[in-house]
Amino acid sequence: MSATQGMGEGVLGAVGATGNGQVVQPPVLGGPEESDYYLLGELLTEEQQRLRHEVRDFMDREVIPIINPYWERAEFPHELVPKLAGLGIAGFQIPGYGCPGMSNLTAGIVIMELARGDLSISTFMGVHSALAMTSIALLGSEEQKQRFLPPMARMEKIGAFGLTEPAHGTDVVKLQTTAHKDGDSYVLNGYKRWIGNATFADYVIIWARGDDGHVGGYVVEKGTPGFDAKAITGKTALRCVQNAQISMKDVRVPAENKLAGGSTFRDTEKVLLASRYCVAWESVGAAIAGYETALAYAKERKQFGMPLASFQLIQYRLARMLADITNMVCMQYRLAQLMDESKYSMPRVSLAKMHHTERARAILSDARDMLGGNGIVLEYHVARHLCDIEAIDTYEGTDTVQTLIVGRDITGYNAFVPTTPAPASSH
Ligand SMILES: Cc1cc2nc3c(=O)[nH]c(=O)nc-3n(C[C@H](O)[C@H](O)[C@H](O)COP(=O)(O)OP(=O)(O)OC[C@H]3O[C@@H](n4cnc5c(N)ncnc54)[C@H](O)[C@@H]3O)c2cc1C
Repeated sequence: MSATQGMGEGVLGAVGATGNGQVVQPPVLGGPEESDYYLLGELLTEEQQRLRHEVRDFMDREVIPIINPYWERAEFPHELVPKLAGLGIAGFQIPGYGCPGMSNLTAGIVIMELARGDLSISTFMGVHSALAMTSIALLGSEEQKQRFLPPMARMEKIGAFGLTEPAHGTDVVKLQTTAHKDGDSYVLNGYKRWIGNATFADYVIIWARGDDGHVGGYVVEKGTPGFDAKAITGKTALRCVQNAQISMKDVRVPAENKLAGGSTFRDTEKVLLASRYCVAWESVGAAIAGYETALAYAKERKQFGMPLASFQLIQYRLARMLADITNMVCMQYRLAQLMDESKYSMPRVSLAKMHHTERARAILSDARDMLGGNGIVLEYHVARHLCDIEAIDTYEGTDTVQTLIVGRDITGYNAFVPTTPAPASSH
């Protein structure tokens, strides 16, 4: 059934006059000011603005033109790794060891721009920098930092972070992988699931339970016998990211590869907090991509003889998207300050991840709709983001889990684990 069925003849005439077989070309997205309605960019230093433009240009020039075929084939674009290394951003906030030592806000802006371009690439960089490298930076000994971080900063060595298990996702605190001390090495046995980059990573940080029952991090180097990482196929989100199902059978890791500072699960959580902050920025970047694309498309695409952008209901939707994005960026700027001042907490970071991911999903879904049929074509930018944001919703703790973390903080009640029902009365 035609969209114009049931409309008046004058309207039908207008549509017929413009029918020339032309389709609207995929929109060319604009500069950062497009979505910066409150001029928040003015709060950035010149260096932050320069870096933001550099990363945005890089994504527009090097990534967006090539990423869709990789996404369709579910392949990782290895050709981009040396180019990403050239940006000098690996390691984000880590100081020294060849890392850029960015402020929290600078790191956030960089991640937001990576994600605006492509969520697979921002995830790849996030796993490498915010999870693997940060584990070593926060929990490694000086010797371990000197050894592992410089080649990772140059991206000659790529990292992965193996925490989740097939049987333990949200309740990963109960992880079952074991690390048994045997002479001058540890012997790892168990399984991991969803581990990004792990099919090709040089260093996979495996979180395992030691003989004392405590969780620690172990750097497993590529090629270690007994370590098998197979790509999970058939994913409908983040198709370029190589998420692995890992099995470990008597994997022998030298004792010097056990992260010196990781002795309980609380230490692992320090890494997750730092990384969750970065994931919140990813959602902002994805939302901006949805808004920018919808706006550019609405200005080009004509229906009933007028650009979509001239219709009230389209303007309503665009204005709401912009309000959401402005709100998200304001929250993130303040969160970055709280991080700088060590006034952060997991609930504060969870609130951002929960809110931004939920809004990004809504914005991308709306943007997809506003592109009509073209919205489901990869070439038009939105479809890939819309699929990919589903994984962002789940990783680093699901939306529900973030809600429960905030809920526990504001009420004092832990609603994670159901309380056992009272025993049935004998009457
Ligand atoms: C694309 C992708 C990349 C990933 N990358 C990595 C990685 O690099 N390294 C790594 O270690 N892990 C990674 N993960 C794993 C990710 O962190 C987990 O998928 C996530 O923590 C959820 O675990 P789960 O998938 O087992 O879901 P489950 O824990 O089984 O949850 C299923 C559902 O139950 C809900 N639920 C669980 N507990 C409760 C509760 N108490 N109350 C109410 N609802 C609840 C959840 O919110 C969810 O909706 C990745 C996952 C994905 C999808």
